[in-house]
Amino acid sequence: MVGRDLVTSAYLLRGDEPALVETGPSTSEQAVTDGLAGLGVGRADLAHVVVTHIHLDHAGGVGTLAGKYPSATIWVHERGAPHLVDPTRLVASTARTYGEEMARSYFGGVEPAPPERIRAVGDGDVIALGSRSLEVLYTPGHASHHVALVDSETGGVFVGDALGVHLPDVKVLRPATPPPEFDVEVAVASIELIRERARSVLYLSHYGAVPEVDAMCDLSVVRIRGWADEVGSALRSSEEQDLDEIVRLLEKRGTAEALEDAGPGADLDRYDMLTSYRVNAAGLIRYWRKRWEREALEAEGSAT
Ligand SMILES: [Zn+2]
Repeated sequence: MVGRDLVTSAYLLRGDEPALVETGPSTSEQAVTDGLAGLGVGRADLAHVVVTHIHLDHAGGVGTLAGKYPSATIWVHERGAPHLVDPTRLVASTARTYGEEMARSYFGGVEPAPPERIRAVGDGDVIALGSRSLEVLYTPGHASHHVALVDSETGGVFVGDALGVHLPDVKVLRPATPPPEFDVEVAVASIELIRERARSVLYLSHYGAVPEVDAMCDLSVVRIRGWADEVGSALRSSEEQDLDEIVRLLEKRGTAEALEDAGPGADLDRYDMLTSYRVNAAGLIRYWRKRWEREALEAEGSAT
C-alpha cells in the first residue's frame, strides 16, 4: 500500500478456481496484479474475489481489479455489497475519518464494481471455489458488514481487521476501533467465534499468518477492552473531554503496549497509517456515546 511493504495483504487461494481474498486499495493494484502474474494467475484465470469488509484498505481495489480480471465473481457481506456498486458514501465516510487529502493518498481512487458480478453473502454461507470452499462467519464489531472466512482446505481463518493490526516485522498488536460502527461487546463476541472455529492459523489482513490462535485472540480481547475502558472512564470523568486529550491517552497506552510486545524502538509508522490513535479515539468516543444513549433510553423505558 502506497509503496510500503507489509501493510495490507491480498491472499491467493490456489485451486481449479483461483480466488483472491482482499484486494487492498487501488494504490496496491500494481503489486497485486504483479503478484498474481508471478504465481501464474493471468487475466482470464482469476475466478473469485472475496473481501472481509469494504474499508478501502481491503476492498478499495475491487472495481479496478474487476476490470483487469473479467471472469472473477465478487463476494462481500450483504450490508457491504451496495457500497461496492456505488462507492460514493463509502468514499465520503473515509474522507471524514482520515481527512480528504490523506484518504486520497492512502487509498487512491475507487472504481464502482459491476453489480451483475457481485454476490452478497451472510453468516453460514459457503463460497464454493471448485475444489475448496470458504465458509462465511459473520463477525461484526470492527464494522457491521465484517466477515471472517474459514478455508476448507487448511482450517485457517481470514480474519480481516477483527483482531486488530499486527505487523510481522514489528510484532505489536494494536486494536482497530474506527468510527462509525465499532462496538466493543460485538467485537469481542466475534473474536470468540473466530477462536472457536480456527483449526490452524489466523490470516490477518494487516498482516500475514499467525499460528498462535489462542494467544492472539486473548491479547486482542485484552487490548480492545483496555482501550475502550480507558476512553470510557476519561469520558465519564469529564463531559468536556476533547478528542485531542483522548488521543494523548491512547498514545500513552499504545506506546507502553508496543514496549511490552516488541521492546524499545519498534517502528510504528505503518500502524499510524492503518490504525492511528486519532481514528481509534474517534471510534471509541462514538461507541460510548451511542451505548450510553441506548442505555438511557432503555432505563427510561423500564421506568415507565
Ligand atoms: Zn477495516
